[in-house]
Amino acid sequence: MNKKENILLDSFGREHTYLRISLVERCNLRCFYCMPEEGVQLTPKSHLMSYEEIYEIAKTFVTNGVTKIRLTGGEPLIRKDIPIILEKLASLPVELSITSNAVIIHKFIDTLKEFGVNNINVSLDTLVKEKFKNITLRDHFEVVYNNILLLIKEGFKVKINAVLMKGVNDNEIIDFINFTKDLPVSVRFIEFMPFDGNKWDLSKMVSYKEVMEQVNNAFEETAIERLKDSPNDTAKNYKIKGFKGSFAIISSVTNPFCDSCNRLRLTANGQLKNCLFSSSESDLLTALRKGESIEPVIQKAVQSKLKMRGGMDTIDKLQDPNKHNKNRSMITIGG
Ligand code: SAM
Ligand code: SF4
Repeated sequence: MNKKENILLDSFGREHTYLRISLVERCNLRCFYCMPEEGVQLTPKSHLMSYEEIYEIAKTFVTNGVTKIRLTGGEPLIRKDIPIILEKLASLPVELSITSNAVIIHKFIDTLKEFGVNNINVSLDTLVKEKFKNITLRDHFEVVYNNILLLIKEGFKVKINAVLMKGVNDNEIIDFINFTKDLPVSVRFIEFMPFDGNKWDLSKMVSYKEVMEQVNNAFEETAIERLKDSPNDTAKNYKIKGFKGSFAIISSVTNPFCDSCNRLRLTANGQLKNCLFSSSESDLLTALRKGESIEPVIQKAVQSKLKMRGGMDTIDKLQDPNKHNKNRSMITIGG
């Protein structure tokens, strides 16, 4: 019998074992770096994947070698059928995790536990209530903050994602690191990335180097410990000696990690993106609905993955709005 071909292996030898599935394009927050000010044209519900279709597509990926699935959005927890999506996906031999803004996550503690979702990434860009409202256009700081504490107390492995922006929250880097002193949480500082409609410009971004300058000024050199990153990790991990938690920097702009990329993304309307920055998509949902095999479509998409950042292999190219605006807005990709 022929050995089954690895359809998740790309032309640069990268094996794609990690699938991010966006469940929904809507959100209960309006983070200005993610959701364009004018909103987004929502896809009609009939063009979005049903829970059965999500399961069928996920099953094909898992059969072909995906070992990790992360659910994202929009805000994945606002999908009414989230419990059944979790139940179906938990029946697959795969590590299941979720990225959420945590606004309503307290309602799902038991469900998440029941279906083995132990790793939770929560977005929180500030520790200041008023600023939270300015960034997200919603007044939910307290519930999000308390829900982070609740998740930790309930034993979940929590990572906090903070997108750093100059003049917005770059004065909170050390406060965030101090937040890890007594809490077993990893704070991940994310370089602000360009997507359609988010008015990105390089001068607003806080780089890996700038974060480390602040860290080096605030802590003794001997107290800053560089941790070993796990394989395919997008983050450079550190901790302050004696602190319960850790911190990390995700530097997609100044220090990309494309060489070890193992990720694919499935949008809520069933389009496969072979890279977060890629402007091309492959339509899995239409093939599935026609009763065709989606494997050839997946293989072609993986084979056509470019070496770096969807072809934007220099900061100059990334800065060009004609290039990054061809991509979707982040809210409809799923970070
Ligand atoms: N609603 C969920 C949440 O906020 O965690 C999941 C979806 S959100 C699009 C996923 C992640 O993308 C969040 O951590 C968010 O901070 C990040 N993100 C969104 N826009 C971004 C941008 N322009 N640059 C960097 N990260 C971004
Ligand atoms: Fe919503 Fe998450 Fe985007 Fe904020 S980052 S608007 S919470 S999807």
